[in-house]
Parts: sequence; structure tokens; C-alpha cells
Amino acid sequence: MNIHEYQAKAILRKFGVPVPDGHVCYNGASAREWAKRLGEGPWVVKAQIHAGGRGKGGGVKLARTSSEVQMIARDMLGMTLRTHQTGPEGKVVHRVLVENGCNIANELYVSLLVDRGTSRVTVMASTEGGMDIEEVAANTPEKIVTEAVDPLVGLTQFQCRKIAFSLGLKGKLTGKAVKVLTNLYATFIACDCSLLEINPLVVTAEGDLLALDAKFGFDDNALFRHLQIGDMRDFDEEDPNEIEASHHDLSYISLNGNIGCLVNGAGLAMATMDIIKHYGGDPANFL
Ligand code: ADP
Ligand code: MG
Repeated sequence: MNIHEYQAKAILRKFGVPVPDGHVCYNGASAREWAKRLGEGPWVVKAQIHAGGRGKGGGVKLARTSSEVQMIARDMLGMTLRTHQTGPEGKVVHRVLVENGCNIANELYVSLLVDRGTSRVTVMASTEGGMDIEEVAANTPEKIVTEAVDPLVGLTQFQCRKIAFSLGLKGKLTGKAVKVLTNLYATFIACDCSLLEINPLVVTAEGDLLALDAKFGFDDNALFRHLQIGDMRDFDEEDPNEIEASHHDLSYISLNGNIGCLVNGAGLAMATMDIIKHYGGDPANFL
């Protein structure tokens, strides 16, 4: 299961990871009111869809006045946003996040994920924040550092400092980074995450660290112990067939083809899809 950025930031705030103040809004007028409550501006209006690349697609906009916030929010709500992660059909924006804009000195990348190769939670970090990590991995893999976490010991201070140094952080920022990384790891474990990506984690002009974007993936099999996270599910973001299937505990994934598949066992289902593809067909689903 995935959640929106504003929900992700609420979780991070609870675990002591610094994020900008902001609020989710469903119409232009409330966006304007929330902007005023948040402070002096500038503000950033951000489309809330379950896909990245919003910045380049026109889903992240800076506003200098509260009436500008209102105008931008009004235009964004209801629009179909297309990014390289939404596919050509795009996604309709139903919610926007209005948050305080910050003075960015430097954008970094940090994520935690489950590395199936080592069977360990692994921290990935890079100085190339704000870019797609897939692109960094393909073109400049030397700019990505990884640190595998021993499940019994947890993420140690020494590992956090090592990551901070490799990101070029110095002085007080090292201590702040250790705190952020420690709290991110605590969040990851406490919420049974499969992925927690902060892109970008920024160094502000004032010398603070701030998570400007946040993406969570949760282990569906552990959701029964996180009712509050389960409640964050947004059915607007999901395929209606997949929602219907999930009510019956079926592993169903919609695909674009026209050959329906009903297969007993995930391995056989994958092999069946491979065979269909091999003979030039296109599966309509995985089931
Ligand atoms: P996406 O990854 O979907 O493009 P982000 O939340 O990462 O969306 O935003 C894209 C870029 O917009 C960031 O890399 C950052 O440069 C800028 N940005 C986002 N939020 C803020 C903010 N609160 N203040 C200043 N700049 C921001
Ligand atoms: Mg981002």
C-alpha cells in the first residue's frame, strides 16, 4: 500500500523527522486560509497523487501571496497530471498540500529499503537529491552509498556518521543527519515499511535538514497491526478491479493486454505471463 506525501509527512513528524509545516486542502479557498495560518510565505502548492516526478510535470508550484496559493490550488485541483511515473493516462488531482517554502542550499537523497540480496534493511544515500535514483544508479553509480543494517543491532551511530560524511555534511549538520537517519530507521521498523524514500532531503540556507518529499511503501501483510495507516488508503488512486479483488484477498494486478489469466500459484502465474508474451500476446491481468 502507498500513501500521499502529506500523510507521509504526518508520520515522519510523529517520529521526529523534520518536515515543513503544511496542510492538505481540497479547494482553493481553504488553500488560501491555510497559507495564511502557516505564516508569511512563500508557500509551495503540491499535487497529491501516488506518483513522483510532479515537479517536472507542473504539480509543484511556488506562490508568493495567499491569493496566488488560491489560484494555483484551484487550477491544480481537478487537473490530470502526467509524469513519467503516472503513465500516459495521468492521474486526476483531488487533494493539494500547501506548505511553507524553504531556502534550499543543497538537495540530498536518502532511502531505506529491504535488500533481498542481503536480507537486510539497507540505507541508500546520494548527493544527487531531487533526481531519479534509477538515473543516478545507471549513469553515476559511484555517487550512491549503501549501508546494510544488522537486524539485531539496528542502525548504529557510527553508520549514520559514515553516511553523513559521504554526503559531504560537516560540523553541526553531521549530528543533525545522525538524528534524522536514526529516526527514519525507527519509522521504517515501527511502521513495517518496505520502502521509505526522502527525495530530496535538503540542507536549508539556515543550516537545517528538512525532508521536502516523502514516499512510503508498506508491507501489506503487516497492515493489520497498523489500523491508522490502513485508514490512509486512498481508493481514488487505485484500480477499481484491484480494489474489488483485495476485498476477497486475491492477488490481482491489472495489466494493459487482452488475455485474461486465472492461475493457481504466483510462480505459475508469472511463467504463464512469460509464455503469453513469448508468443506475442499481452496478458490483461495477473491473478
Ligand atoms: P516530485 O519528486 O514529485 O517532483 P518533490 O516534493 O520532490 O516532488 O518536489 C520537487 C522539487 O520541488 C524538490 O526537489 C524541491 O526542489 C522543490 N520543493 C518541494 N517542496 C518544496 C518546499 N516546501 N520548499 C521549497 N522547495 C520545494
Ligand atoms: Mg521528490
